[in-house]
Amino acid sequence: MYQHQSHMGQLIDLPLGKVVCVGRNYYDHIQEMHSEVPSQPLLFMKPSDALCSLYEPLQIPTNKGECHNELELAVLVSQRLKCASASQVKSALYGIGLALDLTLRDVQAELKSKGHPWERAKAFDASCPVSGFVPIVQFSDLADIPFSLTVNAEVRQQGNSGMMLYDVLSLIALMSHEFTLNPGDIVLTGTPKGVASLIQGDELVLTLPPYLDVHTRVSSL
Ligand code: ZN
Repeated sequence: MYQHQSHMGQLIDLPLGKVVCVGRNYYDHIQEMHSEVPSQPLLFMKPSDALCSLYEPLQIPTNKGECHNELELAVLVSQRLKCASASQVKSALYGIGLALDLTLRDVQAELKSKGHPWERAKAFDASCPVSGFVPIVQFSDLADIPFSLTVNAEVRQQGNSGMMLYDVLSLIALMSHEFTLNPGDIVLTGTPKGVASLIQGDELVLTLPPYLDVHTRVSSL
């Protein structure tokens, strides 16, 4: 069963919680989806059963259409945040890691076309594989964190926190005005461009230099 761990593999003594996510937080991804820039962050959630380890093969659903990679910086919350300011947020974070916001894109397109909620496409079991978390103090600049994903040795996604429309601390502060964030909750901060279908046998490498270099592959249910 999934438990939070550090990037060095030590277990972190925080409970499992929900995952609060933002859609459309990178302009290049908004463009590739032909979406519009939202007037406020587009928030959604995944339940704790969505969490699984990135260090295990990825279990993606079969016969539900395309399942896309969305590589994102993930933030582990260590103290309660309710209606917080950005500076309060900074002192309430354990650290930052990598996550995949696995998305059933065909299912999502159908839900969107009907104006229905996205949970069937975004919140299924094991839809949120996460890495270990690097303590927040190790980042000198939260607005310059590069990260990338290669699939079968080809670069598919390259992002940097500096490209976010809502930066990490402001985003989490805004979220905390909508939903209380509790110790053990995780925030996903949006995906840069390069979302595409994953298929069985794909070999993935996710990097957060110089801290994380995670190799995994796609299995199936
Ligand atoms: Zn996403």
